[in-house]
Amino acid sequence: MLKGRTAIITGSGRGIGKAIAMKLASYGANIVINDIPSSEDADKTCEEIKALGVDSIVVKGDVRKKEDVERLISETMDKFGKIDIFVNNAGITRDGLMIRMSEEDWDLVMDINLKGAFNCIKAVARPMMKQRSGAIINIASIVGVMGNPGQANYVASKAGLIGLTKTTAKEFASRGIRCNAVAPGFIRSAMTDVLSDDVKQKYFDSIPLGKFGETENIADVVAFLASDMSKYVTGQVINVDGGLVM
Ligand code: NAP
Repeated sequence: MLKGRTAIITGSGRGIGKAIAMKLASYGANIVINDIPSSEDADKTCEEIKALGVDSIVVKGDVRKKEDVERLISETMDKFGKIDIFVNNAGITRDGLMIRMSEEDWDLVMDINLKGAFNCIKAVARPMMKQRSGAIINIASIVGVMGNPGQANYVASKAGLIGLTKTTAKEFASRGIRCNAVAPGFIRSAMTDVLSDDVKQKYFDSIPLGKFGETENIADVVAFLASDMSKYVTGQVINVDGGLVM
């Protein structure tokens, strides 16, 4: 389904990003793993991907830094000559009630989750416009649609990412570039492992399908949005949440 395509996934050393990288590789795409410079997981993930029979490289870098993002794009072009799929997955949380939330925590989350995606879309749009094709997929969150107490920074970043998705879709559609978002619900990963049992139970009780999501559930929908099976789909937000939001 994706044989010979080139995919970059930010923050893909572990968690949802890793699952997306493995899934796209299983459909034949060559994979560029990006993660923060101190990541030890990125190289291991790259080896696991090569074992699937596709090519893979690691380009470490911080999505907040324009120069790191430019290098991510140029090293990918040097190695593979094109970029077909770009997944904005890198993201963090710094939770706290708004009244106590520091300006630093607000800025950090907005910088990584939203400005990071803006930096990446701007940089990857150039080669994609030349190719007249490309699929950009942004990993948002259902809380960006419904709001969530204690996550003002994170919610605002994900709501912003949804707006950025729709604007990207409109600005680049005539160049053959599609842009969609996936909004995960509660997915088992390092990000949700740290939540209290109380919070986990509250989420659990509101999921109609009666179980937490797995990273692979997100990867399946990203694979669809990355492939020609979704060639008439752009500017959409697909909730992958066991029915939590409907
Ligand atoms: P995760 O396990 O913490 O993975 C996030 C990845 O992003 C990590 O590899 C992290 O690197 C990397 N990263 C952080 N800052 C970065 C930066 N500045 N530049 C490049 N990479 C950076 O979390 P996850 O659960 O897989 O989340 C992945 C995405 O899904 C995030 O955007 C998150 O908001 C979204 N999401 C998750 C859930 C959920 O339930 N898990 C729900 C909704 C949305 P290090 O590990 O090295 O710090």
